[in-house]
Amino acid sequence: MDAKAPITQDVLTIPRKLPEGPQNLIGLSRDQMRDALIAAGTAEKQAKMRVGQIWQWIYHWGVRDFAEMTNLAKDYRAMLADQFVIELPEVVTRQVSGDGTRKYLVRIAGGHEVEVVYIPETDRGTLCISSQVGCTLTCSFCHTGTQKLVRNLTAAEIVGQVMLARDDLGEWPVPGAPKDETRLLSNVVLMGMGEPLYNFENVRDAMKIAMDPEGISLSRRRITLSTSGVVPEIARTAQEIGCQLAVSFHATTDDVRDRLVPINKRWPIADLLDALRVYPKVSNSERITFEYVMLDGVNDSDEDAHRLIKLIEGIPAKINLIPFNEWPGAPYKRSSNNRIRKFADIIYKAGYASPIRTPRGEDIMAACGQLKSATERERKSKAQIAQEAGL
Ligand code: SAH
Ligand code: SF4
Repeated sequence: MDAKAPITQDVLTIPRKLPEGPQNLIGLSRDQMRDALIAAGTAEKQAKMRVGQIWQWIYHWGVRDFAEMTNLAKDYRAMLADQFVIELPEVVTRQVSGDGTRKYLVRIAGGHEVEVVYIPETDRGTLCISSQVGCTLTCSFCHTGTQKLVRNLTAAEIVGQVMLARDDLGEWPVPGAPKDETRLLSNVVLMGMGEPLYNFENVRDAMKIAMDPEGISLSRRRITLSTSGVVPEIARTAQEIGCQLAVSFHATTDDVRDRLVPINKRWPIADLLDALRVYPKVSNSERITFEYVMLDGVNDSDEDAHRLIKLIEGIPAKINLIPFNEWPGAPYKRSSNNRIRKFADIIYKAGYASPIRTPRGEDIMAACGQLKSATERERKSKAQIAQEAGL
């Protein structure tokens, strides 16, 4: 196998046209916001304090209107309103599943769309966010991977997904109310559309904002980034984000993994495992989640289970078994419940947690790997998309 062989074919990367007009304050790091305020005429000596105040209004209180920032002078608020905006991606549709799962179709600049899924559970509420429109990788079992239009989301568009979900859940704190310890949105997983480590800087900046203790204040232990195995960025994730890591493992031989997760041709299993071995220590996180999609007759044998145990030896791990979520035209079938249970059992007996993920929101196509924008689903031809994208 030629290590340099392209692992993606036929993908159109959308050049991002920056929207013109006032600058969006959302998505800026504290330093970037400080620079922007100074450029807008704020005295350097005051800039840090202003950032602190504005930051709290936006990320702690969820305020979108400068007029409500009552600890700022009136003329300063007017200046902000004149030069800046506080803008989230737009929710186009919102579907609620029979099991309470919510799926939002969200429109970002340029008219492209991504999906965001909220999954309520008894002890937590998890928001599954997207990092790209589509995905340049072409995992053969993943619906997103069949989407051909790709662009990286900005940091604003990534953290904006968390904020719009908080809007919908009515979860911004109310001044004077007692502190709410039991959040509806308590966890974030980067498991929606896209490969987060192919959009590293924006994902990192967005997660830093989500973790900032004076704002949304999510603990890094409640953020999980899922990667298909972009090996060189794994160490950076440990150092620069420090969140929990999940890896889309899905196979126990390079031969099978090459077919399921084609990025394996560039960074095969042995390289991936080397990177994973050091992750917990560098990131100070407890264990790696190995995601393993159960595909009938492809990767679900007893031998696979035993091989998996051998491969991950020495890595603090939990193995998340995902029953394959079928989508129209998918080339695989879900393993039977008996098979999945047997597989889980072998792993469990070797001393690893091996939960079987319950598919959620199946009635609204919100389950893992089914995400794809509505416009793309109705796609007629590549030429037509190119035309619509103005390419
Ligand atoms: N690109 C990243 C994150 C998004 S995918 C990654 O691949 O890790 C989130 C998880 O859903 C991954 O483990 C992915 O392999 C899995 N997945 C994709 N399609 C699926 C499907 N049809 N059924 C079940 N899981 C799927
Ligand atoms: Fe992309 Fe992840 Fe889907 Fe693979 S599984 S195509 S990396 S979104």
